[in-house]
Amino acid sequence: MTNDIDGALKDYFGFDHFRGGQREVIEHLMEGHSAAAVFPTGAGKSLCYQLPALLKSGLTLVVSPLIALMKDQVDAMARRNIAASQLDSSLSLDEYRDVMARVRNGQLRMLYVAPERFNNERFRAAIKGVEISLFAVDEAHCISEWGHNFRPDYLKLAGFARDLNAKCVLALTATATSKVLEDVCVGFEIAPECAVRTGFYRSNLTLLMTPVAVGDRDDLLLAKLRERATGSTIIYVTLQKTAQEIADRLIEAGYSARAYHAGMKPDVRAGIQDWFMGSSEGIVVATIAFGMGVDKADIRFVYHYNIPKSLENYSQEIGRAGRDDQPSICEAFICHDDRFVLENFVYGDTPTLNALRGLVNTLFTQEERFDVNLYELSSAHDIRALVLRTLMTYLELEGYLRGGTPFYADYQFKPLMSSREILGQFEGSQTDFLAGIFKQSVKKRIWFHIDPEKTARALDCDREKVIKSLDYLGDRQMFEVKAAGIRHRYQRLKIPDDLYELAGQMFARMEKREDAEITRLVQVLDLASLDSCQINALAAHFTETRSEPCGHCSHCLLGPQHFPKEEPPAIDEGLVAGVQDLLSSEQNTQVLNDPRSLTRFLCGITSPGISRARLTRHNLFGSLSRIPFKQVRDWIELQKIV
Ligand code: ADP
Ligand code: MG
Repeated sequence: MTNDIDGALKDYFGFDHFRGGQREVIEHLMEGHSAAAVFPTGAGKSLCYQLPALLKSGLTLVVSPLIALMKDQVDAMARRNIAASQLDSSLSLDEYRDVMARVRNGQLRMLYVAPERFNNERFRAAIKGVEISLFAVDEAHCISEWGHNFRPDYLKLAGFARDLNAKCVLALTATATSKVLEDVCVGFEIAPECAVRTGFYRSNLTLLMTPVAVGDRDDLLLAKLRERATGSTIIYVTLQKTAQEIADRLIEAGYSARAYHAGMKPDVRAGIQDWFMGSSEGIVVATIAFGMGVDKADIRFVYHYNIPKSLENYSQEIGRAGRDDQPSICEAFICHDDRFVLENFVYGDTPTLNALRGLVNTLFTQEERFDVNLYELSSAHDIRALVLRTLMTYLELEGYLRGGTPFYADYQFKPLMSSREILGQFEGSQTDFLAGIFKQSVKKRIWFHIDPEKTARALDCDREKVIKSLDYLGDRQMFEVKAAGIRHRYQRLKIPDDLYELAGQMFARMEKREDAEITRLVQVLDLASLDSCQINALAAHFTETRSEPCGHCSHCLLGPQHFPKEEPPAIDEGLVAGVQDLLSSEQNTQVLNDPRSLTRFLCGITSPGISRARLTRHNLFGSLSRIPFKQVRDWIELQKIV
């Protein structure tokens, strides 16, 4: 067998040697055991499923949250003559059918899907009879509540792997503490001895953590850039607007710099990435959106203009430096003011207990089968959309609800010729059917809107037929068609004994998550002010024990760092009158009905409710943004304002 895998490595991938950990993982899989691979980014995790996919009979299903990366991998497989494909929302129905046909007749070796794909019943049914020899899960740390990027969809994945009778599972991640790895192994039923971890420590990276006051930060950055040798550089910032501001300043100072963040158009982002890949001294000022697909070996400098939000994020971001093993510098500016911005991201995610009570009340007073628009629900109950999805998934995992295939409740079309011309191209019952569809649609300004469900009932056919007809007209250039208003279906499986108790449990869980996230940020600050080797402490966080000081971190090079403690400004008691005035309006009290939501408002944290009530424009919104959330909440409770 050893020969087999060595031969395949050379024949299909053109590599002479396995990299650290790859052989061990692949051997576990070839012996039929599930395995985990914890290798740093860029170390070659993908090969651990790509190679077995070729040698095993049956299909390798790869679950990856990043659609852009899936596409890159599928293209790379195609160049190596390996039959791989991906299912994503960009596929037309025909393309989807074609992929599934190749899955069923065994032509396809690998299929890439996003975790959400499993919410689709049609996909689940279609894949059920297929022999899945390997179920590979990228970013597997998302399964862990202790991880920095928990996604409840991942908890459902473990169940799907079992339902599909996958012969073995491969869980892949770049960052996992021992607790997270344990969750991954338990969740996916991986024996601890089949979890392979490669070294974290990298001798070529100098890690600096430098205290700085807000007002001095830009000058410090410019000074650093002036003093150093040139080289490919990433500067990480927290906010999109900071990325643009800093890039502008650098350009003004004569540097070859570009901003990069998720708010930019995909083609602009791709252009910047290409420019960076091809340049040996380009500087990208980016939010954490940059880096996922960047496989550049000679990145010489990674700066953190703002504090990284966790040690996991930090280690992934610095891990992009010096992949060519040449000396590289990673320097994080530690500015205490950043703390509130980062903390407020976390606090903004925890709904109030009242919001959760409202939510469970809405959900459990529906018919047994119901559908909801998650954005409407989010807005109605003042719970952020992503948080709401998490809560819904918990209700599924706990057996209260079962999710079904999401559907579009609102199709919109714009005729590209007159209805008479369109109808003229059809005959008999087809013409009548289309005329029926036109009759059911409602014109709003430019687009016609149509509810396929309602139309199907009116025309006594099924929903599919209505949608197919619209798509047909779209394909023939008679219509421009788009789908909107996605709704999620649920079936209620049981009713909780006590709705408020359930809401209380959900709230406790969200509070626990909030505490854990705040702790992560504190861990970064603790590392910065640590009075011993920082690299060893960071390695220890990821379970690697090192005894000798590294000699290339701030502490080893410069000794312990001192951070000026900035006292937060006090709260002006005059604010009480202003808040009372704010709350004298019925509409405002509806949104700010609880110390937590009022704290959010004063700290400048948006929520669906605050945005809907246009309260972000109020002059008190964000008036206490420089004061820690907890301090503001204590003050509100003390004043008994709400
Ligand atoms: P990861 O998923 O761990 O971040 P990838 O799987 O994307 O890393 O691999 C990073 C790069 O390393 C890819 O360009 C891949 O082709 C290359 N690579 C992987 N394994 C080997 C190997 N054994 N020899 C040489 N290059 C390899
Ligand atoms: Mg990868």
